[in-house]
Amino acid sequence: MQVDTLIKNARVALETDVSEMDVGLRDGRIIALAADSTGISADETIDAAGKLLLPGAIDIHFHCRAPAYPQRGDFATETRAAAAGGVTTVFEMPISKPCCATGDVFRMRKALGERDAYVNFGLYGAPGLLDRGEIDDMVSEGAIGFKIFMTAAPKGRDDEFEGLCLPQAPELYQALNLVAETGLVCAVHAENNQLLEWHTAQLIQANRNDVPAHGESRPPHVEALAIATLLALNESIGANLHIAHVSGAEALAVIRRFKATGSTVSAETCPHYLFFTEADLERCGPYAKINPPLRKEADQAAIWDGLLDGTLLAITTDHSPFLVEEKERAREDLWAAPPGAPGVEELLLGVMHEALSKRISVNKAIELVATNGAKRFGVYPERGVIAVGAAADLVIYDPEAETTIHRDMLFTQARDCDKLYDGMSFKGKVERTIVNGKTVFHDGDIVGAPGDGQFVRPDAARVQQVF
Ligand SMILES: [Zn+2]
Repeated sequence: MQVDTLIKNARVALETDVSEMDVGLRDGRIIALAADSTGISADETIDAAGKLLLPGAIDIHFHCRAPAYPQRGDFATETRAAAAGGVTTVFEMPISKPCCATGDVFRMRKALGERDAYVNFGLYGAPGLLDRGEIDDMVSEGAIGFKIFMTAAPKGRDDEFEGLCLPQAPELYQALNLVAETGLVCAVHAENNQLLEWHTAQLIQANRNDVPAHGESRPPHVEALAIATLLALNESIGANLHIAHVSGAEALAVIRRFKATGSTVSAETCPHYLFFTEADLERCGPYAKINPPLRKEADQAAIWDGLLDGTLLAITTDHSPFLVEEKERAREDLWAAPPGAPGVEELLLGVMHEALSKRISVNKAIELVATNGAKRFGVYPERGVIAVGAAADLVIYDPEAETTIHRDMLFTQARDCDKLYDGMSFKGKVERTIVNGKTVFHDGDIVGAPGDGQFVRPDAARVQQVF
């Protein structure tokens, strides 16, 4: 057998175990998985003895906002960061200018990604214009799913969110009906708008401008109430809902209750809720201003439990690049600084650190950052798994090395906003990232090119309903 690339002697993370194998790649796919590769000849052989071979991570919640605000980051800069972090596919949220809520905007963003992306990408659409024709157009173009906010647009950013924000129940009801017809997944940013506006008004009236006031404006019940409203509304509709960035115990408890009575909802959390708490606000200031906010240690423990018992399907980054000047606005006016932080370069490191520390198995880590997301969104078994026939999206991971995050090594354009992780050390290291059979990151350097990433479209018939 002839292959393009043969990866030898790696400990391969298969779906149910980790075993030493040789892996042959040809034309962007995995075509051989063998305990012994005698008889396979290769153009390129990589000796991965002592290394783990992992499926590349699939970040199902990612932002670069191209082509709006290129100074914050674009498809090229932010997918280079993804490649450096061992993320081989990103699902990009529709926040842009204009918001990705029509077929025309979708096509324009798709062409941009195909030109510029270093890793594979899927694109969400926004259904909030409540226009069936536009929704159908985005589906036929290959939308990976839809995204809805139950909040109003952040202050001063209405243009980026037009078609995304559905704070009123009647519009939300209509949007859920429209996305249910598509069979695709609809991710939801669930916070109750009336309550958070009321809490915010109280805090502004009290002249609060300290960063913890942001957390107080969106306490746990703001998130829990929105999820309960959403899931109750969806009972008779049956859309494939996915709760974005679950941050704490109360939200998780609501999801558990609905799942126990047959709701097909899925949910994710993010590394910042797993590795940081509100105690980090003092150190990071507005750079840790994120929606929903960082919470307490008890919430962090609850989120870990939710991952372990399967209530939470995936860990995603919500990677959100902004400018230092934008985050620094908080010094004058906390409420005017945009929420969000970068993190795509630390996703796999963080989760694999927990695997190498034996908190979770390597297989569980890979489920959480790759396989489950691929199954939920309908791109499995093409992506998210190391198997014969799957795309050759792979990471060679050195379990013996250590990685300490320093802003100079980061590829995200928002490296100066990455205060949460700056100085943090992880067990293990992303040694090489392979996208569609081609090495795009190796030994600290980007070696891929814009356009190496492919557009990823889902198969609605493969969207997995129950986890
Ligand atoms: Zn987000």
